[in-house]
Amino acid sequence: MSFSSGVEDYLIFCDFDGTIAEVDVGYRMLSEFSVTGNEDLEELWNTRKIGARECLKLEAERINSTREDMLAYVDQFALDKTFAKFVEFAEKQGRGITVLSDGLDFYIEHLLGKYGLEHLPVHTNHAIFNGTKLTVEFPYDKGCGICGSCKAARIRDIKSQENFDGTVVFVGNGYSDICAIAETDLLFATGDLQKYCVAENITHTAFKSFADIGKAMFADWK
Ligand SMILES: [Zn+2]
Repeated sequence: MSFSSGVEDYLIFCDFDGTIAEVDVGYRMLSEFSVTGNEDLEELWNTRKIGARECLKLEAERINSTREDMLAYVDQFALDKTFAKFVEFAEKQGRGITVLSDGLDFYIEHLLGKYGLEHLPVHTNHAIFNGTKLTVEFPYDKGCGICGSCKAARIRDIKSQENFDGTVVFVGNGYSDICAIAETDLLFATGDLQKYCVAENITHTAFKSFADIGKAMFADWK
């Protein structure tokens, strides 16, 4: 499964929380700053009584903190140590990487910026702060109606915008990535997404870090 450079045309889409970022930053941040805790929402989400969009709206209503305070908390979290190198290879040999997330733009862009990756396109939900009040807008509201920003709909839109019919690569770790599977030709999965793929008999390559994906995709990866 080696993409010797230039042989194939591919678009690479990567999830952020728990995939590019080592942990689920959005989940931890929204739990940390929730005035009531989010255990009840987790229960509703786990039993599929509310969708991701509804859940994110409710989580945002429970915030009473500034953007700056939340970003100061987020600063403790790191990106996968091999991600920046993976981006460099992807940009040298193809169309680069698009980040698809069902989190929030402000902390994703903040963390990418710390690694010199602020140029990466990020398609996700939009956080609006008014002092200590947080509301969420859903600029990408097409799709399954359950996701805040449905990754399947984003991949379809980007493919059609770019008139692309090559190989779609998707890298993810969780349940918010399940919609993307149907639009993906080459799937790299870890965490809950990998368990889901095994349970559902979905073809995928398991990975631990972006170095594993680099080795699989780029013939000259060292
Ligand atoms: Zn979806």
